[in-house]
Amino acid sequence: MPSIPTSPWLLDREAMEKDEAARLAPYAVRAGDSAGRVHPEERHRYRTDFQRDRDRILHSRAFRRLEYKTQVFVHHEGDHYRNRLTHTLEGATIARTVCRALRLNEDLAEAVTLAHDLGHTPFGHAGERVLDELMRDDGGFDHNRQSLRVVDLFEDRYPDAPGLNLTQETREGILKHGCSWEHPLPLPPLGKQRTLEAQLADAADEIAYMHHDLDDGLRAGILDEAALGETALWQRARDGVDRDATADVNDNVRRSRILTAIINELITDLIEASAARLEGSRVCCVEEVRAADRALIALSDPVATDKLALKRFLLERFYRHPRVRHMTRKAEGVIAELFAVYRESPELMPGAGRGRGEDEGPARAVADYVAGMTDRFAMSEHRRLLDPHEPC
Ligand code: MG
Repeated sequence: MPSIPTSPWLLDREAMEKDEAARLAPYAVRAGDSAGRVHPEERHRYRTDFQRDRDRILHSRAFRRLEYKTQVFVHHEGDHYRNRLTHTLEGATIARTVCRALRLNEDLAEAVTLAHDLGHTPFGHAGERVLDELMRDDGGFDHNRQSLRVVDLFEDRYPDAPGLNLTQETREGILKHGCSWEHPLPLPPLGKQRTLEAQLADAADEIAYMHHDLDDGLRAGILDEAALGETALWQRARDGVDRDATADVNDNVRRSRILTAIINELITDLIEASAARLEGSRVCCVEEVRAADRALIALSDPVATDKLALKRFLLERFYRHPRVRHMTRKAEGVIAELFAVYRESPELMPGAGRGRGEDEGPARAVADYVAGMTDRFAMSEHRRLLDPHEPC
């Protein structure tokens, strides 16, 4: 092994940790203060523990499967619609922007955001609802809980530890609002609030999906601009764009400018309102953030009200639109029928899926297996197992 060169410009992990200590705000999480991993490991020479978490998530199989999991539209409906992978990446860039402005830990927020949807079922929330219903007598199903199961249990990468063996801080961020369910590994201790980086991952997720669902809804012709004009966020963005626009700007560019103005208003407000809350709260360390009475990463009250109105608009006009509901119904049928087939004949699942049933019951093993599927794998399994025209 070559000797380590000495150079004043070489930044090893210890130097990065010192840099974080000097550069980050006092209430940010520092990698050097991490509570560590469930299974202790030797630390890396050139990456902090949170950078390592991020890389482990990015290289996981579950992360690659996000590409073929629905956000709102099933993947074969069009090449330009978002899927869970692009949603996740858009959320992660928002999280990084806000972190950098607030001097929080970008690596931790990025790791949490990249992992936040790993537990999503095929076909988006429709799949989650059905699995929760089918698992009602066996502990239910929730995608946040499932994300933690994925990183803690299902990625077999290391000889001495199950899952990705992430740090407690990243696991705390993925866990979201605590839990009342059994989990095979010790859960990270939770305060009243989560770290600012974890709070930010939630806010970034929401801004990301509102922005791209507007874009995708308009692209699909399900949403229209005239109706969107009822919402304050759209109105403000449109008026600003129309005021500044040159006469010959085409519709696509104009719409894109309006969407950019909306996401820009939300992110800017999130940065500035959170900075004001942090200043007003006088928190000066992570423990005080955890003990605070309210989350400190949040939009200002007026913008939060406008965002809620837009969210309701999307719920009524987009997620409950007949075309989306039709897709949802078909997806629910696929999930429910696959669940029933595997419950009755667990031997149809590959070995790993059946093995888990010995620890946590056969229903959970089926839920884990079905939840891990991509849309296209679920559809091909459904065809293979349930289409009478397919050969057995
Ligand atoms: Mg999400």
